[in-house]
Amino acid sequence: MTDRTTQVRPDRRADLAAGLARVRARIAEACAAVGRDRAEVTMIAVTKTYPAGDVIALAGLGVVDVGENRDQEASAKAAEVAAAGAHPRWHFIGQLQRNKCRSVVRYADVVHSVDSVRLADALGTAAGSERDRPLEALVQVSIDGDPARGGALPDSADPDRGLLRVAGAVAGAAPLRLAGLMAVAPLGWEPERAFARLAEVAEGFRAVHPEATALSAGMSGDLEVAIGYGATHVRVGSALLGMRPTLR
Ligand SMILES: *Cc1c(COP(=O)(O)O)cnc(C)c1O
Repeated sequence: MTDRTTQVRPDRRADLAAGLARVRARIAEACAAVGRDRAEVTMIAVTKTYPAGDVIALAGLGVVDVGENRDQEASAKAAEVAAAGAHPRWHFIGQLQRNKCRSVVRYADVVHSVDSVRLADALGTAAGSERDRPLEALVQVSIDGDPARGGALPDSADPDRGLLRVAGAVAGAAPLRLAGLMAVAPLGWEPERAFARLAEVAEGFRAVHPEATALSAGMSGDLEVAIGYGATHVRVGSALLGMRPTLR
């Protein structure tokens, strides 16, 4: 912990502690409002665009789960955090290209964004050669069913993008463990409508894959709604770390 580049200033640490207290209180209230046990919801701190020092400070404040969306940034940050002696669980939550799988499986504990059979196959192959324990994988679902954007397609028999095809490819790959579903509310949709639709998809999905109980949904602006519709993992960036300088 002596590398100066990985230290945060005391005022930054205090800001992170305050943000964390606010987000934890929001999660606890949202759980209480719908009669859920607080322990059912995991907060993932989305640290994209923020430096390794923030991750180390958050780990020091008790944060266990960290999310990143770009391999190049995440792999360097994970190495820096590990070198400083902190060992959070890394969640890869961004769009993933097949040629990045080999890198991602080296530091990620969980990948939330598997949305095609081809990607599931590439991830399974990479995990099989790079890891000695299974990688947790969530299938990212398209809530609006628009094939032009990311996400596997519910109610579709598309051999590469159909939700049950993708889930089957993950479940059938020994180096992967099918953990559940992930989604982002589509732009222009009310969170209420988006997460109600997601809950419906998740119910049908669990009838086929009852072991895959994780539901990764909800961000800074809509985590309460997502918890109301069964989210087990909320991915929180700006409410915790501040507004990012650029939209990504
Ligand atoms: C950036 C990001 C988040 C966090 O968004 P905030 O609005 O900053 O909380 C959550 N999920 C994904 C997939 C992201 O890319």
